[in-house]
Parts: sequence; C-alpha cells; structure tokens
Amino acid sequence: AADMRSNYIARRITPVENFPKPGIRFRDITPALQDPRALRNSIDLFAERYDNMGLTQVVAVEARGFIFSAALADRLGIGLTLIRKAGKLPRDVFSASYMLEYGDDVLELHKDALKPRDKVIIMDDMLATGGTISAAVDLVRKTPATIMETAFVCELLYLGGRKKLDQMGINSYAICA
Ligand code: AMP
Repeated sequence: AADMRSNYIARRITPVENFPKPGIRFRDITPALQDPRALRNSIDLFAERYDNMGLTQVVAVEARGFIFSAALADRLGIGLTLIRKAGKLPRDVFSASYMLEYGDDVLELHKDALKPRDKVIIMDDMLATGGTISAAVDLVRKTPATIMETAFVCELLYLGGRKKLDQMGINSYAICA
C-alpha cells in the first residue's frame, strides 16, 4: 500500500552530515531518483492523490522540484509551470525574495503564466523551513490561479515548514517525513 511505497522511497533518501555547511543534515535524493522503483513509487503516490483534483498545472520550484513535477504533470496530462531563480525567465515576471541562512534569494514567475481558471499545486522536493515554498506561494498569489496545496517528496518536521504554510492558509502534502 501507500505506506510500503513511501517507506521504500524514504529508505533511499540518504542523510549526509555537515553538507553544504557544518551543522546541516542534508537529505540526498539522488539515490531515490536512480532507483527505478523509488522513482515510479513517488510519481504513483502523487498521481493517486492528484488524479481527481481537477488540477490544470503543476507549478514547480527550481531546481529539484522540476524533476518530480515534470513526471507528474505528464502522468496527469496537464501542464508544467516553472518558478525559477532570478534572471532566468525571459519575459515580464513577478518576483519574491526569501531568506536563506546567509542573505536572501529571489524567485520569479512569468506574469502571464497562470489564468483565473487555473487550479494548481506547487511542488518542491523538500520542505525544510518553508521559506522557499512561501515565496513560491506569494508568487502564485499574485496571479488569479487557485492554489489547492503544496506537495513535497519529503518534509523535515522539526524545521516548522508545515506550520508556516498552515499560517498562510496553505495545506501541505509530503510522501515521507
Ligand atoms: P526551505 O526554504 O528551508 O524550506 O528549504 C527548502 C529548499 O532547500 C528545498 O528546495 C530543498 O531542496 C532545500 N533543502 C533545505 N534543507 C535541506 C536539507 N536538509 N536537505 C536537502 N535539501 C534541503
């Protein structure tokens, strides 16, 4: 069932201590991507959840969010909308800045990317502090689209990202914790 599949994925996400800096326990998803069953399970679980939600676009956060979003959008037969780091999108953009551990960064979305009829989820690989996904939510809220929820392969519960999204009125779904 869903549990065995999510456990299978979780076991292939590899913790790496002190990367990219001291004190950080990095979750490396590359082994889960390389394992065909883990990759298929992750897309199956997302597809089962979102099959009947009437989504029109999967909104993906650069860079690792792109991987799962592209496969899911294709599986659901819907489109893919990209949120990118500053300076990558060629036409008029909305911008939102967010805090990182040192300084801040900027995410962008084409102003005309989403329409009033659009019902979307916003995806990234990992929910940590929630700073990145909050900026993504802010961007989509500048458009007339409806955000159904945010979706992640993994969430790091102790960093409070889910609570931060709750406070913004946004539900979150993660395959594994
Ligand atoms: P945050 O903005 O703190 O929620 O961080 C989310 C983003 O940073 C996601 O795009 C993750 O890919 C990445 N990230 C943050 N913390 C980790 C971690 N411990 N392991 C792997 N990726 C992380």
